[in-house]
Amino acid sequence: MTNEELFQRAQAVIPGGVNSPVRAFKAVGGTPRFIARAEGAYLWDAEGKRYIDYIGSWGPMILGHGHPAVVEAVMKAARDGFSFGAPTEREVELAEAILALVPSAEQVRLVSSGTEAAMSALRLARGATGRKVIVKFEGCYHGHADALLVKAGSGLATFGNPTSAGVPPEVTQHTLVLPYNDLEALQAAFDRVGDDIACVMVEPIAGNMNFIRASVPFMTLLRSLCTQHGALLVFDEVMSGFRVALGGAQSVYARLIPGFQPDMSVFGKVIGGGMPLAAFAGPKQVMSQLAPLGPVYQAGTLSGNPVATACGLATLKEISRPGFFDALAARTRSLVEGVVAAGRSAGVPMVGDSEGGMFGFFFAETLPQNYGVVMATDQKLFNRFFHGMLDRGVYLAPALYEAGFVSAAHTEADVAATVAAAAQALAD
Ligand SMILES: *Cc1c(COP(=O)(O)O)cnc(C)c1O
Repeated sequence: MTNEELFQRAQAVIPGGVNSPVRAFKAVGGTPRFIARAEGAYLWDAEGKRYIDYIGSWGPMILGHGHPAVVEAVMKAARDGFSFGAPTEREVELAEAILALVPSAEQVRLVSSGTEAAMSALRLARGATGRKVIVKFEGCYHGHADALLVKAGSGLATFGNPTSAGVPPEVTQHTLVLPYNDLEALQAAFDRVGDDIACVMVEPIAGNMNFIRASVPFMTLLRSLCTQHGALLVFDEVMSGFRVALGGAQSVYARLIPGFQPDMSVFGKVIGGGMPLAAFAGPKQVMSQLAPLGPVYQAGTLSGNPVATACGLATLKEISRPGFFDALAARTRSLVEGVVAAGRSAGVPMVGDSEGGMFGFFFAETLPQNYGVVMATDQKLFNRFFHGMLDRGVYLAPALYEAGFVSAAHTEADVAATVAAAAQALAD
């Protein structure tokens, strides 16, 4: 069947034809590609067309698709059983592996999705502090738990309004939404309600408003205000964890700000290597508030799944090899530099940035610092570029507010082919 035929068939039985909205290509228009299989850096759609994949399942596929050591680990685990609903040694091994790579974390609990991890971290932060208010930033995505589906209300530093039907305003009334990288708004919010804040949740290197780094002054102020007011600083590293560096974005900020650490961390995507797996972690004193030790309830039938943990462990082992991230970062940088240079020579102003294997580029003169600026960039131009690239066999994220991902399977030749496609698409 063609992609279009599959899309028609899908729409009859699945709302919008997809199981997660961005896959429907609504922002860019056109027919979503139905993927038949993947290998290394490539995807093949239902019509047999090949694409260089810069989504990598939105981050998890850091080794590329079908890495032999990972496939082997998953097959071996599958033969020993899919799920037991009882503890296994492999869960302990994965927990130990995560903690060894993330010095801020003393204990970790495994769950099945980033949404679940962020939602559980939030409940734990509230339970551990006995406070209600949570702070998030406009343009950061933390999954679709009710209390996090909010946008800023009118005026600076007001409590948020739901962004989804089905979320009563009562559920978001304790969620404060602030502009990203805005020191004044942050200070004002803490001045007003600092002692009521349970936690501040932040994407330290945001990947859900394209690619934007928290500035060092912003992160420094955030850390000191949280400490001063007894609020927990929660890093949502579902996307950035084990992706921008082996130690996640927190290792990047620890290099820039002496002694820097978040209080809690949320992981997903790469730690499952493409299988449903996520985690939240923090100091023992906070994590011990969780059931069965403490009063904060949290559970999961498939949590710590034996096949998913095998996949995650094999993935972490491969990315821990010396030089892995240096090579990945260099390849990613050369991609961004190449595409931006292609824009310049076509007379299209472009800028880009990357860290480790995560990147973003913008049709703009300077790198945006917050969500509003990203969304004000040229949507039509992005959509034309996206389709120009797709036609030429390059699969970019189908929305201008999404980051991109390079895997260890992407070769220099793949990057060169991508840059050549970009030059043609931009010339058009
Ligand atoms: C993907 C993502 C989530 C949600 O994870 P799911 O597994 O899709 O539920 C949460 N936070 C961030 C930063 C993400 O990128």
